Amino acid sequence: MSLPTGFRFSQASLQDYVDCPRRFQLRYLAALQWPAVEAEPIERNEQRMALGEAFHRMVQQWFLGLPDDAISRAASDPDLLRWWQGFLAYHPVSSFCGDAEDTTIRSEYTLDGELVGHRLVAKYDFLGVSGAGKVTILDWKTSMKRTPNDALHARLQTRVYPFLAVQAGAYLNKGDAINPDDVELVYWFPESPLAPARMRYSTTQYEADGDYLADLIKRIAVSDDSDFWMTQDRDRCRFCVYRSYCDRGTSAGNLDELAAEWQFNESSEDIDIDFEQIAEIAF
Ligand code: SF4
Repeated sequence: MSLPTGFRFSQASLQDYVDCPRRFQLRYLAALQWPAVEAEPIERNEQRMALGEAFHRMVQQWFLGLPDDAISRAASDPDLLRWWQGFLAYHPVSSFCGDAEDTTIRSEYTLDGELVGHRLVAKYDFLGVSGAGKVTILDWKTSMKRTPNDALHARLQTRVYPFLAVQAGAYLNKGDAINPDDVELVYWFPESPLAPARMRYSTTQYEADGDYLADLIKRIAVSDDSDFWMTQDRDRCRFCVYRSYCDRGTSAGNLDELAAEWQFNESSEDIDIDFEQIAEIAF
């Protein structure tokens, strides 16, 4: 089974492949709908995902200029209101970007680039470029627990987001290339507003990421059906919606046991990408 025509790789699909090649095959090649719940109890799990989406919407409304109190009034859930108040109090944009007036801000922004003949796409919660070319990528992580830094460093998102921003370079930075050493990725956690994870990028990392992502995409592109093996880490299967296809159990894992590093809800990121609105970059 080959890649669908026009397939776009993303941090979510690449992460699926790295976590379990079989999951990549079922989700992106076979395009199977999700036959099982991710975690129990179902209601609380769905509420968790809905809160995350609502928070992203509120921040987007804020970037669009809606007044703080109007957005606050729409927060009916106490946890959501607490997250929102933390956002206003901590103000991650000015905390990490400095002078906002000097910064070109893009929110809920999608970049679509090319690597080794394939499309690579990323959707940014926030992408700021200062007048001096300093790039700040902010990502809201609405997991219930603060994800450890080593788990964040291991995520494909940590590689794909800054890499693609540097690749976009002049397109984002008024015609000038972006220096990888001027890029910072910040994960901000509404549940832990005072404990952001700040990740400085570098030229060395940019070159390493380019090699790594190119190899990964090439490997997936030439894989046969038999190459998409099932993960050996059966703990992952307890929280995977494809359990029944793999004969890896019938009941979902408990939400309280869901490791913070797995609470990324990345599949919805791919679904949310509006491919008609993508800024395509030639590189
Ligand atoms: S159930 Fe396990 S083996 Fe099957 S796709 Fe999910 S993670 Fe992979």
